[in-house]
Amino acid sequence: VAARVKNLDIAVFDGDGIGPEIMAPTIALIQQVTSQVPDYALSFRSHPAGAGHYAKTGQSLPAESLTAARKADAILLSAMGLPSIRYPNGTEISPQIDLRMELNLYAGVRPVTIFPGAPCPLGDPRAATVDFVLIRESTEGLFASHGKGTINGNESATETLVITRKVSEKLFDFAFKLAQRRKAAGRGKGVVTCVDKANVFQAFAFFRSIFLERAKAFPDLTANSAYVDATALWMVERPWTFDVLVTENMFGDILSDLGAGLMGSLGLAPSADIGDDIALFQPCHGSAPDIAGQGLANPLAMILSGAMMLDWLGHENNSDGLIQSGKRLDDAVRAVLAEGRFRTRDIGGTSTTQQMADAVAAHL
Ligand code: ATP
Ligand code: MG
Repeated sequence: VAARVKNLDIAVFDGDGIGPEIMAPTIALIQQVTSQVPDYALSFRSHPAGAGHYAKTGQSLPAESLTAARKADAILLSAMGLPSIRYPNGTEISPQIDLRMELNLYAGVRPVTIFPGAPCPLGDPRAATVDFVLIRESTEGLFASHGKGTINGNESATETLVITRKVSEKLFDFAFKLAQRRKAAGRGKGVVTCVDKANVFQAFAFFRSIFLERAKAFPDLTANSAYVDATALWMVERPWTFDVLVTENMFGDILSDLGAGLMGSLGLAPSADIGDDIALFQPCHGSAPDIAGQGLANPLAMILSGAMMLDWLGHENNSDGLIQSGKRLDDAVRAVLAEGRFRTRDIGGTSTTQQMADAVAAHL
């Protein structure tokens, strides 16, 4: 009996600015690399959302788009939001934050790897060995206040930071399990560091205490705690000593841009937002309106996010073929950077988005 091919439905949000320019070549590469995978086929369906859509219709994330995202096997998102188009209260259109909240995508995974051939700002030769993962809680923390802050007259303003036991336990378990997987793959050190500000805020002392409680369930790993300010310093002074870092939403937002800086460009930094049984994959960068429509955008962060999606889908569906295709895509990006023949402007070259994507295709 021939095995039935299972279809995996990928909800695509190509949004604003450079979004469509980096999404199209990424989907083509994913189709290329998965074409021989047995038992699984991926189909891609695009859904409207973002600042451009808001300007046209008054809706930034239509209900049908949210429903489609909820039903999909995975979500691939490029970038949404534009500084020129805002809600009446002045905040930017950010359906990517709404999706994280609506779908409970609590674990924001941001791998920080210094690829051979990438323009890393650190001179130390040990920088070549940097390979850690920052996990940013993505549904609460200071962002729980998103859209709910108050301005009291013209005199003061208040936002609220929320830490819950339920989400924190899931977040820390995710971090410990990721550290176990990295250790088993010979890639990690088996160390998880909780990044907080427990010396000043009760909410962070609570966060840290839950971390230390959960650590007891993982005796094969080392659990460390560190303050966020010191962590920022160490990310520059000795980032090669890190393995898995786990932190609150706002701290993670800031540290992940620092991580992208270590990698040499925002255009090289991928991410995943993982929930209980759904996940969203997008580059760390935004819609880059300053270079939109010119073919200058670096597609590698988007392509690496696609590789993370294949790895996650592979683990969710027990498909070694999907896991291997994710690895092949990741390896092809590394090969293009190491070769150095094609570089977009952000990493010191003159190649176009399409030339960069074609170079990845040639290495597959
Ligand atoms: P967000 O608020 O969504 O994080 P942002 O305001 O931080 O967005 P980005 O859109 O990420 O800003 O852009 C920051 C800078 O990085 C811009 O100068 C932009 O051109 C550049 N940049 C971002 N992504 C890329 C990319 N893929 N390729 C080249 N340059 C990029
Ligand atoms: Mg940003």
